Amino acid sequence: MNAAVIRSGNRVNCQLAVVGTGMAGMAAAIFAANRGLSVVQAGKASEISFSSGCLDLFSGIPGAERFENPFKGIEALIARQPNHPYARVSRDEIVHGFEEFTGFMNGAGIRYHCTPETNQQIITPAGTLKSTWCVPSAMIAGTRALAGKQRILIVDIRGLKGFGARQMAQNLKAAHPCMGSVTVEFPGREKAGDLMCERLTWDLETPDVLSRFIKVLRPHVGGYDAVGLPAILGIYRFEELRAKMEKALGTAVFEIPTLAPSVTGMRTKEAYLGQLSETAVRHFPVSVKEIQTDDNGFCFNVAEGMNTLEIRAEHLIVATGRFLGRGLGVNDKGIIKEMLFDLPVTQTAKRSDWFHRDFFNVQGHPVNRAGIETDEVFRPLGRDGKIRHPKLYAAGSIIAHQDWKREKSGSGISIVSAYKAVNHLAKVLKGS
Ligand SMILES: Cc1cc2nc3c(=O)[nH]c(=O)nc-3n(C[C@H](O)[C@H](O)[C@H](O)COP(=O)(O)OP(=O)(O)OC[C@H]3O[C@@H](n4cnc5c(N)ncnc54)[C@H](O)[C@@H]3O)c2cc1C
Repeated sequence: MNAAVIRSGNRVNCQLAVVGTGMAGMAAAIFAANRGLSVVQAGKASEISFSSGCLDLFSGIPGAERFENPFKGIEALIARQPNHPYARVSRDEIVHGFEEFTGFMNGAGIRYHCTPETNQQIITPAGTLKSTWCVPSAMIAGTRALAGKQRILIVDIRGLKGFGARQMAQNLKAAHPCMGSVTVEFPGREKAGDLMCERLTWDLETPDVLSRFIKVLRPHVGGYDAVGLPAILGIYRFEELRAKMEKALGTAVFEIPTLAPSVTGMRTKEAYLGQLSETAVRHFPVSVKEIQTDDNGFCFNVAEGMNTLEIRAEHLIVATGRFLGRGLGVNDKGIIKEMLFDLPVTQTAKRSDWFHRDFFNVQGHPVNRAGIETDEVFRPLGRDGKIRHPKLYAAGSIIAHQDWKREKSGSGISIVSAYKAVNHLAKVLKGS
């Protein structure tokens, strides 16, 4: 039974406010709703809109070893970097956090395929292979075809930028010799010039366009076990569109994530928001300007239409991301700042040390490890090294000592930090 968010006039009382709607904010709101807490969530679009849609846990230590087994990798990582956020969670917490998150998303229509002990591979638009832990069903046929050394046809669309089937197949041929490519015209867009994935996605939601596209593909697919398309098979009815295509073509069909903004990321966001309406979480797609804090908790304003609502929350999770999400910013002295609470940010002594001279340095750039410090249950620390507020928590990429891009740990850090934080605060609330 969920505790209700209580509204009285323009004041809304809740047990937990989640600021941020990226992977960490979404995970925190899901976990809190599942534990019956009353939750308000505020936040605008996030890095999710750029994501491949896969859930990465861990693939490698930057500049050192790569791991097929993410858990073995995490063990090695913690041994080298005891202050990494993964050092604060157990294997069981990781597994249960992922199970709960993917369970919710499954209900929302996005099914993930996770293999317990190994990372899986997907094809990227650069024609490389990317390791990830959980692959959405839209991409799993490609993962299986790669693993089974099957014949794969990559299809691109004339006019679609950043997705070249021929180049991808060429790049992948060394690792996967049975790879073909073809360029086709998109029905109704033959003379359109540059094409965008979102536009094609909306087009394919129309049954007539879908059947014309299938007709365009049919002559090319013979002799292939799986056909890889750019991720354009719908924002809402993606399972249905892909199933129709597979049936009509008589071969497995999978999507390859595209460059940002990616349809797969938008799909994740839309599915989450759709399923959230089944919970008691109140979601506000707005930015929070200022948060007041006292011993009882947190107070901030959100806009709802023409109204301003005052949110009073007993606990708060700051899941505002890094520079792209605007959880971190830089002041005019070149110092990295945490934007909402002015929490101290661990960073290099000088701005000139943020980046290595070589952009592709395999160690990753030091600026990507900047972030806030937390205790064992992800409560941010103040300048004195003590927890800043007993009811304030953090989750996701804002936390220091990780480089999710290099480690391939973006969703993992978000999900497990949110899981640990919510479990802790739910226990505190139960005891109070
Ligand atoms: C190009 C790209 C590809 C990626 N691909 C993958 C992938 O394949 N697999 C994977 O696991 N991860 C991937 N990621 C990473 C993953 O998306 C991030 O790790 C993850 O989004 C970090 O989540 P976060 O919630 O911490 O931050 P963000 O996603 O940045 O979210 C921060 C949120 O906080 C909100 N916010 C900030 N300030 C305020 C404020 N004052 N008031 C209200 N809201 C606020 C923002 O609006 C946003 O909603 C990718 C990221 C990028 C950029």
